[in-house]
Amino acid sequence: MTAADRLLIVEDERHLAAGLKLNFEFEGFVVDTAGTSREAAALLARAEPYAAIVLDVSLPDTDGFTFCRRLRRAGNYTPVIMLTARNLAEDRVEGLESGADDYLTKPFELDELIARVRSLLRRRAWEAARTAPTAATLMRFGAASIDFERHEVQVGEQSLRLTHLELDLLAYFAEHPGRVISREELLEQVWKLRNYPNTRTVDNFVLRLRRHFEPDPANPIYFLSIRGAGYKFVPEGSAQG
Ligand code: CA
Repeated sequence: MTAADRLLIVEDERHLAAGLKLNFEFEGFVVDTAGTSREAAALLARAEPYAAIVLDVSLPDTDGFTFCRRLRRAGNYTPVIMLTARNLAEDRVEGLESGADDYLTKPFELDELIARVRSLLRRRAWEAARTAPTAATLMRFGAASIDFERHEVQVGEQSLRLTHLELDLLAYFAEHPGRVISREELLEQVWKLRNYPNTRTVDNFVLRLRRHFEPDPANPIYFLSIRGAGYKFVPEGSAQG
């Protein structure tokens, strides 16, 4: 963490907000607090971005779920950790579906909140570093459209959730369209494992991509096997199928 990490705490319980502010400042953050969604929106509209937002679900005006959904719809992808009052599965699901990156149930341990915020920042920094060399963050092939930055995958009308490794593999293929890529290269570049003894891992993941994206996974036209050599990604689709 750097000293410049700015945190926005959206919490209407004034004592809790003040306590959180004090503790996060002690941890080296620069902290703003907002007691309502309105105040939070005003602070977010200012130029300097926040590294993360701690967002209470129950607020006197717009609730945290709605606030987070609006934020994401407006293209703001600042990491959000949501504070929910009840440990209900539907609250957690709604929190994550509204675009929150993590959630914590009240009452919570301060140490845990700080650790979760730190972990979000680490993950974000890691993702930024990981996606930096990717020239195209948007890709289309066939009926598929992929936004690597937002981790959004769509095939026709259907949204898919891909794992990090599936996305990494897809990104590597996308960076090298039309080139035959060996399993060893994929293991080294995507899995970052050198001399990994078992290349079947690669085959399993290519099967997964085919199930996601091929009209007929048994007769692939995008993710082709090249006998004795590896795989080739053909974004325009191969005629021979
Ligand atoms: Ca509240």
